[in-house]
Amino acid sequence: MMGYVLPPAAPVSLPVHGSKDRFPVRRIFCVGRNYADHGIEMGGDPTKEPPFFFTKPADAVVESGSTIPYPPATQDFHYEGELVLALGAGGTNIAEADALAHVWGYAAGNDLTRRDLQAEAKAARRPWDMAKGFDLSAVVGLIHPGQSVPDATLTLTVDGVLRQETRLSMMIWDVPGIIACLSQLVTLAPGDLIFTGTPAGVGALQRGQTCTVAVEGLTPATVTIA
Ligand code: MN
Repeated sequence: MMGYVLPPAAPVSLPVHGSKDRFPVRRIFCVGRNYADHGIEMGGDPTKEPPFFFTKPADAVVESGSTIPYPPATQDFHYEGELVLALGAGGTNIAEADALAHVWGYAAGNDLTRRDLQAEAKAARRPWDMAKGFDLSAVVGLIHPGQSVPDATLTLTVDGVLRQETRLSMMIWDVPGIIACLSQLVTLAPGDLIFTGTPAGVGALQRGQTCTVAVEGLTPATVTIA
């Protein structure tokens, strides 16, 4: 009988609202610059840009309520409040009209970012991986089952102070559009998460602070920096 030369890593999973069962995480995709106000604050012209994507490792997932260390190699550690999609079905070249049928649920999330490393990568035309895909960089709240997009307000607070606020309808690429575009680049699979982008107001987190992303209708996603 075949074995493994090392113990395989434990599956990554997230808790589900209203269930004892957990959602198995396969991959984490993220949309860059999906709100016009954030695109402008990052120096882009979002009205002319098609969506672009980056990734985080699945095991970068942090459950809401966790306390995490301030990450290494940064002096400018940022929050980004986002809606997260959890896919229940995969596919290639998914039509926008069929896209929502691939959604299993939604969660609030925080795309934690080493902004200084991202700025260096942009300046040197290098990849964003170490700015975005570092350990413990993907905070995700409880996954709420459902396929229709919440038409809701997203807010992010740091120690109770409001830092980001948007309507999800302000996304440049909406949920069906994101799924359709991404499925033209990769074959999506059940268990994939998609961070859908952040609005204006991104900023730094300091040691000791607690950051909460709240989306109406979903359980807030909270993380504390040790
Ligand atoms: Mn983001």
